[in-house]
Amino acid sequence: MNTPVKQHLIDPEICIRCYTCEMTCPIEAITHDDMNVVVDADKCNFCMDCIPVCPTGSIDEWRVVNTPYSLEEQFGWSELPPQEDLGEAETGMEALDEAMAALLAEAHAGAGGKAVAPKSAARPAINLYTLAQPAVAKVQGNYRLTDDPEHDVRHIILDMGGLPFPVLEGQSVGVVPPGEDENGKPHLPRLYSVSSPRDGERPNYNNISLTVKREPDGLCSNFLCDLEKGAELNLTGPFGATFLLPDDAEARLLLICTGTGSAPMRAFTMRRQRVVGGKSGGMLMFFGARNPESLPYFGPLKKVPENLLKQELVYSRLDGQAKEYVQDRMMAREEAVAEMLTDPATHIYICGLKGMEDGVEHALTNIAESIGQPWAILRDVMRSEGRYHVETY
Ligand code: NAP
Repeated sequence: MNTPVKQHLIDPEICIRCYTCEMTCPIEAITHDDMNVVVDADKCNFCMDCIPVCPTGSIDEWRVVNTPYSLEEQFGWSELPPQEDLGEAETGMEALDEAMAALLAEAHAGAGGKAVAPKSAARPAINLYTLAQPAVAKVQGNYRLTDDPEHDVRHIILDMGGLPFPVLEGQSVGVVPPGEDENGKPHLPRLYSVSSPRDGERPNYNNISLTVKREPDGLCSNFLCDLEKGAELNLTGPFGATFLLPDDAEARLLLICTGTGSAPMRAFTMRRQRVVGGKSGGMLMFFGARNPESLPYFGPLKKVPENLLKQELVYSRLDGQAKEYVQDRMMAREEAVAEMLTDPATHIYICGLKGMEDGVEHALTNIAESIGQPWAILRDVMRSEGRYHVETY
């Protein structure tokens, strides 16, 4: 009889196909096909390097198996198989579990951890379109959002024509840049959060919008920012099953974002504006940018009523003023944030630069402690209840 082994797996329902784990794995144990990103049981040595870099926690799946799942089996999954009942065979795994638990605890020491969708969120469709069978979208509009000449951020509207492309607020799509990489292989899709609500950028049109910043040497961002009306492009996805809006009008949202990380926050705001208006539980947003000229959606945001969305716009590069980051403003609004932390209706969403995570964690730690709540415990409770969401990269 085979000895049971622990196998490292990736949840295909939650994975957003950003390929960060694959790029991080020091021994090339992680690979992908057109559908899924998977772990090779013959190669994985449980080093855990991939755990903290995963933006969704989909990497954090383990099964005890008699025969490890092959790559081919994993490529075919649309959801993870349940843990098999191995009966008595499972005994003997405890020592291994203890060692792994210690390694995992270390990997989770930061803000990482397994993401859970809000309980009331609608069920998202995922992975409907793949590298082998992408959706073809047509550019309906490409508008510059920022006045800062150094900071070109675009609002790009994509018409999905007659193609079913159901997407919920907070989900992402993959954009496949044309051409091939240096190895003659097609480029990997780059991930962008959808910035429009589920019923379309324009209500009841089959279109979506993306918020894209031109990066100096960015292959995909330059491709997208240069797209003209009528151009066609390939999309994969939709992806993401946890960073979703609660379908509960009473839920209170604490939104923390930088730069183009505002994309899902725009989708959340538009959804609430269309469906529940000012009668919702309310939203408080901390939004960081260099200056007003480089803050995406600065103009439209001014028209959003305060009873729907309270805005704390935070600037880091204003002439003659000290640098201010979202976490600094959160500290300055400590009482408002603390009050939200005490309310079980509060959901936290953090999106944007990876670098902001530590600062925001630090601010939340201080604010939670000021009301006698150890943040690490509160955060884990919120996460397990689907009320704490991070998407930074
Ligand atoms: P950016 O303009 O470079 O930065 C936005 C603001 O964040 C600036 O004020 C910047 O200040 C500040 N900042 C820098 N380091 C910080 C830190 N450690 N803590 C707090 N604030 C900090 O932002 P961006 O280029 O738009 O980047 C947004 C990020 O979001 C990208 O990494 C993108 O991949 C990610 N993202 C995008 C999407 C999407 O759909 N588009 C979705 C999810 C995530 P300085 O003056 O110091 O630079």
